Amino acid sequence: MSICDNLNKIKQLLPKNVTLVAVSKTHPVELIMEAYNAGQRVFGENKVQEMLSKYEVMPKDIEWHLIGHLQTNKVKYAVPFVKLIHSVDSLKLLKVIDREAAAVNRVVDCLFQVHVAREETKFGFLEQELIDLLQLGEFNKLQNVRMTGIMGMASLTEDMNQVRAEFKSLNVLFNKVKSSYYSNCDWFNTLSMGMSHDFNIAVEEGSSMVRVGSSIFGQRNYPNKL
Ligand SMILES: *Cc1c(COP(=O)(O)O)cnc(C)c1O
Repeated sequence: MSICDNLNKIKQLLPKNVTLVAVSKTHPVELIMEAYNAGQRVFGENKVQEMLSKYEVMPKDIEWHLIGHLQTNKVKYAVPFVKLIHSVDSLKLLKVIDREAAAVNRVVDCLFQVHVAREETKFGFLEQELIDLLQLGEFNKLQNVRMTGIMGMASLTEDMNQVRAEFKSLNVLFNKVKSSYYSNCDWFNTLSMGMSHDFNIAVEEGSSMVRVGSSIFGQRNYPNKL
């Protein structure tokens, strides 16, 4: 199967209103160009340096999404061009994104990453932590970031009931946050959940954006920390 075939197969499984982020981390530009030539324009990377070097050499109509954990000292390299940061997991990080975005005169779209998986290693706000910060109105003070939704990852498990339950709870949280804090904001419309092995379940549970890597590009050559 070619990258083009893989993309077509996945697109057939996705409703039209679900955005496909092709996760190209660890893969070389030549392979990503195959996806580009097949019409794909939205790509996800989990390291700022790697995203930047690919951005520099690839066509400029690509939307680059940052999906991996972001360190505050790397923010300034992403902010000038990134289309969406999926991995906002602290108020401190969001304040740095806001400051760096102001410095380059941009408003950067971001998602709250929420931790629902069982694994302790996954980043993200706990649900209650996010609600508390929203309640305090901390995010509204920031002028150069725009919160457009929520991102989450399910547990790495064979238990698909568990995975489904976690996606369900992300969807409940998304709707709660939207109706309580972003009800007048039509841009708060993104629920980013679902990867290669679970995107079909995520879509059934209300995902509007899936992040798919290995089902498009094949297995990654070296393990990449989430
Ligand atoms: C790598 C990664 C993906 C894609 O994973 P696949 O299993 O290859 O589809 C999705 N989301 C995040 C946050 C990732 O780091």
